[in-house]
Amino acid sequence: MSACPRKFIIALAVIAILGSVAAAQEPPLKSISYTLSMSRPTSHLFEVSIAVELPDQLNDKPLQFQMPKWSPGRYAVFDFAKNVQEFRANGRVKRLDDQTWAVDPAGTSTITVSYKVFGNDLSGTFSQLDERHANYNGGSIFMYVVSHKADPVQLTIQPPAGWKIVNGRMERAGQTEWTFANWDLMIDTPTEIAPDWTMESFAVDGKKFHVVVHSFGPEGGKRPALVKDIEKVVRAEVAMWGPPEFSEYTFLIHYAADDHSGDGMEHLTSTQIIEPGALAEPGVYESTLGTVSHEFFHVWNVKRLRPEELGPWDFTRPLHTRGLWIAEGFTNYYGHLMLRRAGIWTDRKFFDTESQTISRMGSAQGSHLMSAEESSMSAPFLDDAPHAQLTNLSNTSISYYPKGELIGMVLDLLVRGRTKGRTSLDDVMRQMYEEFYLKSSNSSYYLRGRGYQTEDLERVASQVSGVELTDFFKRHVRSVEVLPYDEAFGYVGLRLVKTQAKEPFDTGLSLEFQDRVAAIENVRNGSPAEDAGLQAGDEITSLAGGNPTKATWLKTLARYKSGDSVPVTVKRNRRTIKANIVLREPERFDYRIEEDARATAEQKSLRNAWLKGTRS
Ligand SMILES: [Zn+2]
Ligand SMILES: [Zn+2]
Repeated sequence: MSACPRKFIIALAVIAILGSVAAAQEPPLKSISYTLSMSRPTSHLFEVSIAVELPDQLNDKPLQFQMPKWSPGRYAVFDFAKNVQEFRANGRVKRLDDQTWAVDPAGTSTITVSYKVFGNDLSGTFSQLDERHANYNGGSIFMYVVSHKADPVQLTIQPPAGWKIVNGRMERAGQTEWTFANWDLMIDTPTEIAPDWTMESFAVDGKKFHVVVHSFGPEGGKRPALVKDIEKVVRAEVAMWGPPEFSEYTFLIHYAADDHSGDGMEHLTSTQIIEPGALAEPGVYESTLGTVSHEFFHVWNVKRLRPEELGPWDFTRPLHTRGLWIAEGFTNYYGHLMLRRAGIWTDRKFFDTESQTISRMGSAQGSHLMSAEESSMSAPFLDDAPHAQLTNLSNTSISYYPKGELIGMVLDLLVRGRTKGRTSLDDVMRQMYEEFYLKSSNSSYYLRGRGYQTEDLERVASQVSGVELTDFFKRHVRSVEVLPYDEAFGYVGLRLVKTQAKEPFDTGLSLEFQDRVAAIENVRNGSPAEDAGLQAGDEITSLAGGNPTKATWLKTLARYKSGDSVPVTVKRNRRTIKANIVLREPERFDYRIEEDARATAEQKSLRNAWLKGTRS
């Protein structure tokens, strides 16, 4: 550090003044102790009690206990308070609003509250208690004490007889008590409690990694290979970032075998990964590794190097940040690239995956209407948000995951190409991590370092590469211009080949084929289907006189040409409606990343460095 002594003294004085102001407002409580019990697993009711020791100054005013409205990593508002029941306390209780209970201590020195919270979703966002296990995400079950989220907290878990506890903060086997520096860190520690999970471990660069698996279906003998491949992913990502800050990290993996529970959630020293299938089933092994690669990248990108708004959080209102195309989108990009660098994917598999994303984004109406930053600002509406009211989001929105993924890939290739391989997005990300996490002073009680704004990435990327990137950010991040794929892929001897999609006509319909009917899921704005008066929720019972099926839909349309009118019959509630879809020229295209046969040695060398993570 090179700050002059005089500046240093002023900084200390400011900290002292700020500290004393904060102290005058809300002195820390003497202690906050949580106890989590689960005496009746089949009821799905977690039992939480919180004992708070009050300092003398505070024992005459009500203390507020608040359930968060959402939890970090999942940005839809779920209102976890809706599953709270039987809130009790040793003082008078007043419900202040949908998420807050106030307790009047009436002169006592300890407030004790208890409540039950229902949880029967196996998910990184919610919690589940049933006869097989307890698996929780702390944000969905633990209230915080208002104005004391920064205080240290203690947690005691009382498991049913024979059940074992595991999480990413184990100091010893059989541990049932933890102390956390603050409530945010407690809820950053998802926990699994069951009689029959198993654990395997490996070490990379002196750090220990644990793979905890709880399977509800057959594994087909795939576990040893899975653990080896997870180790390869860890090695590839550590090779890019350098050694992680922790000494131990835990992958908590569930094979739900229920065909619907699926999630991946990042934490500081662990991740929750839930696969809806069983490990023995086709594709589940590959899907697990895809999630592992993504979530482990979050150890750096999002959990430590984070947008300014990501910690500490205000859980009384939805999150607003412009940075999720970096936090999630770049993680999507690197999640895929790291599978290639780890030797698990071939070049072709990586190219095909990105080609599909380019095709999907190219045909999505929302990608022409919503920028990456706007998408991030809409996260509370987009990230698994339930909508009771019908919306037009499928036509107007775009996810910051694929949008950010493609921005990350193109930016990486532009920087590599324009600097002739001297610099890459890897260097930019490492510089960001160093500047905002490792070397910055702490901006809050929550965690080391401080958060960034998207302009910071723009600045660091330009500084590290020496390439002027203002225009790129303006056009492709804050506006909706199509990314410069040709320039980007050209640097590494690849080309993006555009072909007409296999539908001969774009009617503008998204369909779900059921028994002899096609249910309309979405109608594109401005499309022939919209012109014909069709709407989401309609069931097409006849297309050109025949029952529509997945097998016949494209064949039937192929009999017509542009400008022709195709008769359809739809059922809308109790009405039968006849309409005509007037076909137009196709507008949908597929994209495929291909190797350029004329690629030079220099281009191939750049490509190699990109795919392998080495210097060219
Ligand atoms: Zn479990
Ligand atoms: Zn993610």
